[in-house]
Amino acid sequence: MKLLMHTCCAPCSVFCIDSLREEKIEPTVYWYNPNIHPYEEYAKRRDCLKEYCKSIKVNAIFDDEYGLDNFCKEAAGDIKARCVNYCYPVRLRKTCEYAKANGYDAVTTTLLYSIYQNHNFIKNYLEKLCKEYGLEFVYRDFRVGFWKGQQKAHDLGLYMQKYCGCIFSLEDKELNRNVQKPKLPENFKFLPAIKMINIKKEKNNKEKYLDLLLEADPSKEMIEKYLQDGEMFVLTYKEEPACIAVTIKLNENAIELKNLVTKEKYRGKGYAKRMIKYLADNYKTKYNKMIVGTTENNIPFYVKQGFDNYEKTIKNFFIDNYKKDLYDGSLHCTDLYYYSRNLKK
Ligand code: SF4
Repeated sequence: MKLLMHTCCAPCSVFCIDSLREEKIEPTVYWYNPNIHPYEEYAKRRDCLKEYCKSIKVNAIFDDEYGLDNFCKEAAGDIKARCVNYCYPVRLRKTCEYAKANGYDAVTTTLLYSIYQNHNFIKNYLEKLCKEYGLEFVYRDFRVGFWKGQQKAHDLGLYMQKYCGCIFSLEDKELNRNVQKPKLPENFKFLPAIKMINIKKEKNNKEKYLDLLLEADPSKEMIEKYLQDGEMFVLTYKEEPACIAVTIKLNENAIELKNLVTKEKYRGKGYAKRMIKYLADNYKTKYNKMIVGTTENNIPFYVKQGFDNYEKTIKNFFIDNYKKDLYDGSLHCTDLYYYSRNLKK
């Protein structure tokens, strides 16, 4: 079966893709969502989905039409009925059109996952469209995995949106108006949240994390120096330390990230990214910027995490301060590069 799955965002795709793969169905993700406003939010959701698809090696197609003007024109006629009059139909029809024109024989949508969407309308509408286009409708009540999917998306550090998508839903959310009640399938049990990931400031026994800190900075003397006055944060997954960060106050204006390390088995899950976000939120009221010193190899990672302001280079830092030659992969470390992140942005 060649299945095209209309996909509204990364978090909603997690359970849908996992459960289809369990059935040995490999979906192709199809992004067409002109209903997400403003553009910044649209780009955030789209880019998060792009990254997620890449990370789980799922084929994805992005139809990048940002249709604020058209959406508003069509939705404004009857704002209350905008979801069923325009928003669902335009996205689902486009998916069927693409599927038909590109040799897919079946379609489905992640809209069937959200407990906040009009499930029955979506189901009936897509069923009708499939008949019209001669496609198979792969209907699944993905809502049964809603909690599981949300938890996994959260743990992966995916961008979790705070409102449905359009400017009208943003306004509803801001004004706490028309709050959507979840629509659950029959016999659905809404499980309580199990918080698997936690980040806490470690006040005592910082030394017990020394082995892990040494993976990012092989100088015990250096670590001991900044550990004394530094603040340590520990991200635990199911209560096991997975990622550690140590920061130190530079002056009234800036805090420095001295060490950031993720345990090997937890790498690639976005924990370091989450830690940086946590630190930025934690320090944004106290400092203007967070600085990090890094080897050349890690510059792209930090720039992506918002450390996009070049500060300075300390020439031969690793040669002058470490007894042994240091290597980061195949790179012989010599200079230390400083970048900063504006915490007020
Ligand atoms: S509330 Fe959501 S489903 Fe309804 S029109 Fe807005 S974006 Fe579309």
